Amino acid sequence: MIALDEKQLNEIRAHGEADYPYECCGLLIGRFESDGRKTVIETYAISNAREEEAKRNRFLIRPEELMRGERYARERGLDVVGFYHSHPDHPARPSQYDLEHAWPTYSYIIVSVREGRAEDLFSWEMEADRSRFNSEEILEGK
Ligand SMILES: [Zn+2]
Repeated sequence: MIALDEKQLNEIRAHGEADYPYECCGLLIGRFESDGRKTVIETYAISNAREEEAKRNRFLIRPEELMRGERYARERGLDVVGFYHSHPDHPARPSQYDLEHAWPTYSYIIVSVREGRAEDLFSWEMEADRSRFNSEEILEGK
């Protein structure tokens, strides 16, 4: 389960709409709670490193950008708990590419953006054996 507030969910949707028809991506910065839950404290937008055409359906975060985000989180006593990205004109479910480039433990939030408007938003967690993603419940706080 991952907890976000409405402001963070709206930031993810707005980023997806702003970068349409390309994929947006960013980090989810917060805490791993002792009960296995994750709490997002803030979203951290980063640019999509892929070339124009590929940006439409796959995201890539450069290692230096991930490191910068991790440093930013650590300075605040927080962790990177997951990633978000958009699927322009595609459902908010992980692609095969997403599965091949994900790690267990993290949350992967995907927002579907249809014709420039954010629609479904789901969170996914990878099965420990990396065989598939499972849907993760989003707890929406205030
Ligand atoms: Zn994807």
